[in-house]
Amino acid sequence: MTSFEYAPAPESAAIAKIAPHYDLFINGKFVPAKSETTFSTINPANESVLSQISLANQEDVDRAVASARSAYQKVWSKTSPAERGKYLFRIARILQERAREFAVVETLDNGKPIRESRDVDVPLAAAHFFYHAGWADKLDFAGLGNSPQPHGVVGQIIPWNFPLLMLAWKIAPALATGNTVVLKPAETTPLTALLFAEVCQQAGLPDGVVNIVTGDGSTGSYLVNHPDVNKIAFTGSTEVGKAIARAVAGTKKSVTLELGGKAANIVFDDAPIDETVEGIINGIFFNQGHVCCAGSRLLLQESIQDEFLEKLKRRMSLIRVGDPMDKNTDLGAINSAAQLSRITSLAHTGDEEGAQRWSPDCTLPENGFWYPPTIFMGVTQAHRIAREEIFGPVLSVLSFRTPQEAIEKANNTPYGLSAGVWTDKGSRILWASQKLRAGVIWANTFNKFDPASPFGGYKESGWGREGGRHGLSAYVKEGK
Ligand code: NAP
Ligand code: MG
Repeated sequence: MTSFEYAPAPESAAIAKIAPHYDLFINGKFVPAKSETTFSTINPANESVLSQISLANQEDVDRAVASARSAYQKVWSKTSPAERGKYLFRIARILQERAREFAVVETLDNGKPIRESRDVDVPLAAAHFFYHAGWADKLDFAGLGNSPQPHGVVGQIIPWNFPLLMLAWKIAPALATGNTVVLKPAETTPLTALLFAEVCQQAGLPDGVVNIVTGDGSTGSYLVNHPDVNKIAFTGSTEVGKAIARAVAGTKKSVTLELGGKAANIVFDDAPIDETVEGIINGIFFNQGHVCCAGSRLLLQESIQDEFLEKLKRRMSLIRVGDPMDKNTDLGAINSAAQLSRITSLAHTGDEEGAQRWSPDCTLPENGFWYPPTIFMGVTQAHRIAREEIFGPVLSVLSFRTPQEAIEKANNTPYGLSAGVWTDKGSRILWASQKLRAGVIWANTFNKFDPASPFGGYKESGWGREGGRHGLSAYVKEGK
């Protein structure tokens, strides 16, 4: 048998009640933007307009920060830790109750397969609120010093690849530790953050504890430069991360940066090949490869290279590309025209620099933004596709002969966010994970996340950790 035919299994969009227009969420209410400017958010799978979104200008960001400051001083800093925990538990349960609605809205706005938003993004977002709810009244025992204190008002800026999940990674620890928040979602994926604003209302969260300002890079930069923001938490590109680091240098703001990556997935000759092929597929094609910790560099031991690539190609031929709302879809739409053109031009340098491109036969939909699952073979360390983050469904394949060479190649990158090791030997896993310079190392698995497990990078992949006790520490300062 060469192909599987699947009958369409579309999720219904009926549960998603997307308003034609959204205001900003400030001080517990949706309020019109002073800017009187809007932009549209689209469904990248068909380019249809989903809603008009308010673009927050400086005055709007000022209002949001003032609301967060007032909520911090008057209410949240006086709310007992156990009470804070109750709000977080309530938010977590509402996210679970409204999971289907969130999954549908996420998929429509982002282009990721419904299977992933349903089974990964939304459950993990709820798990982050549950996890941090449990910490709220135990911070004195978290090893964060004597009586750790919140910073005050935290400005949070998130990217478009995991919109709700990145919001949860940011808001849950901030609230658990007693901070108030102004959050800016990405321009192309604001809808689940706005739906989350409704959840805050539903949970009875005191007004102003969470404020959501939609907008573009300028909105983010007003937040970064606002004098009354005590801490900035940013997830996004290394380029913008560096600009933020420069902007806060010399101020009293504390900052955490979760930036890009170019992870090596190392396959040794004793790895179980079929299972490893599955892991490599997941590592690069999960979420269309729009994953900062994606296993975008495959390092294959030379002796198994031919057999491995043959099996990898066979498996890639079974990837179903298409309608993200279909429950059978594996690879959805690229998030934006801009991202598609970045992927296309970087992949083009792979052709120009002499790597061999391969993609399975697949028919891409006519409208929307699409890129087929792609591998480049014969890639060397000098190639741009081995050094730069493509942030799309494109895998660069390199080879190695000795374990030492694998480690050297894996570490030869300006990044250091994640890495994968595939081998039958426990001792080799331990050896490799001590040598690899990456914040997260997966062994015989990939892209596994848990709220208790700290996530973050070395070198140009960022500063600080999110998740676990380490992540909490970024949201508190020395005690009184
Ligand atoms: P990006 O351009 O850096 O944008 C990230 C966020 O910053 C967006 O909300 C963006 O707003 C905003 N922004 C843009 N310019 C800004 C400025 N000058 N000041 C303040 N905020 C600004 O990154 P992206 O292309 O959206 O996301 C992809 C990148 O994020 C990749 O490099 C990926 O590796 C990284 N990422 C890292 C992690 C991690 O945990 N380490 C997780 C996910 C993604 P607009 O959307 O309106 O431009
Ligand atoms: Mg969108």
